[in-house]
Amino acid sequence: MDESRNTVIRKRSVFKGVKLSESKLTADKPIESLPLPEKIILPLQQHIGAPCSSIVNRGDYVLTGQKVADVGSFVSSPIHSSISGKVVSEVKIINPVTSNPVDALVIESDGEDKWIDLDSLINPQKEHKPSDLISLIDSLVPKDMITRIREAGIVGLGGATFPTHVKLSPPPGKKIDTFILNGCECEPYITSDHRIMLEYTLEVVLGAYIIGRILMPEKMFVAIEDNKEDAIKEIDSFIKGTNLENKFQIVSLKSRYPMGAEKTLVKTIVGREVPIGGLPLDVGVVVNNVGTSKAVYEAVVEGKPLVEKVITVTGAVNDPKNLTVRIGTPLRDLIDYCGGSDEKANTVITGGPMMGISISDIDFPVIKGTNCVLVKKGSPASDENCIRCSRCVSVCPMNLMPLMFVRGVRSGMYEVCKEHYIEDCIECGCCAYVCPANIPIVSYIKVGKSKI
Ligand code: SF4
Ligand code: SF4
Repeated sequence: MDESRNTVIRKRSVFKGVKLSESKLTADKPIESLPLPEKIILPLQQHIGAPCSSIVNRGDYVLTGQKVADVGSFVSSPIHSSISGKVVSEVKIINPVTSNPVDALVIESDGEDKWIDLDSLINPQKEHKPSDLISLIDSLVPKDMITRIREAGIVGLGGATFPTHVKLSPPPGKKIDTFILNGCECEPYITSDHRIMLEYTLEVVLGAYIIGRILMPEKMFVAIEDNKEDAIKEIDSFIKGTNLENKFQIVSLKSRYPMGAEKTLVKTIVGREVPIGGLPLDVGVVVNNVGTSKAVYEAVVEGKPLVEKVITVTGAVNDPKNLTVRIGTPLRDLIDYCGGSDEKANTVITGGPMMGISISDIDFPVIKGTNCVLVKKGSPASDENCIRCSRCVSVCPMNLMPLMFVRGVRSGMYEVCKEHYIEDCIECGCCAYVCPANIPIVSYIKVGKSKI
């Protein structure tokens, strides 16, 4: 890396964490489009906040991009059909995170992929110079941009699924002085954000520029781990080519897990500690992932709702890939398209091996927060007794005592979890990764959090 380039600085981690084997099998695989699914299943809650209610009826014909569910609450996000076809039923499916039933719409494709008329601010048939797009963005009113982001159903696509229009509307009195565009992607196996940075550089950077116009921070950083040197170069080159060096500073971060977690990122880049139970917002920082930034650009400039996203399908599949997938597509379709799974594979996880969620039914759909489908073989955690070795304590990036959460939940004394700040756990999985007793500590933590 050329140290003289003033858009790139280097930083090391300032938290404990772990160094993981990367297993990025798909880093060099360009994004392909998964063929249209025959049907989609759209859960009516795919975000943090109030669930949506269906605004269509059984038998209705819907277009790709048509809003099919919404709610009046500010902290929520509408849902759009990702195919054209007929609404065939409203069903209940089990949310694999909470194990609670959630309403979902089932839509059968007509195979036509007929879109709504997008409220685009540019002629999609023409090429547009980045400088013209920047001038266009400069002419837009922040309030209108937030409305377009809300109406497009944009949420945090790194997995957090917090509605983006809410994140970009800090309450009065909360001054945001720093924006961090998060391109770290620190979990093993996942490469979707890496490919997005390489193949959608304009959308990613101009999406961040839009966020900058809305928040008006004093500083904007692009955070990328140093195992993605090609992405650093690509973004650096775009920033220089569009004369945005005075807006963005790229930070090349030493690869260490969980560098991409918001709290560790804020601490590493701006040296601020997010308070217990707080958000980066509380220390004047907003963090958005690069996939979200791309979606923000498409919503604001092209009027495109969130109907598809880039997903890595990897692990014990025969041909791992990065795929653009319509939201609502059953996971089974993705695995089949990647040549099926190894016959010894026995686990499907959405997300990475550290923070992902084990899925028992592969007809569960891709939702807004899905960034990876990881097929694994091997035995599950054995859940033995804690031997009090304190390895979990030595790696926790939030300086917590994970063994106390295990003890609190096993004994039913949930107040022990609270006394040891379970709310501050970012569920990164470092503790479970190093635990010699194979205790599924994060599962205990999820239970503990739900009980306090
Ligand atoms: S306690 Fe939470 S934050 Fe700490 S290592 Fe475990 S999962 Fe990560
Ligand atoms: S690493 Fe596992 S065995 Fe060791 S103290 Fe933590 S929970 Fe107990």
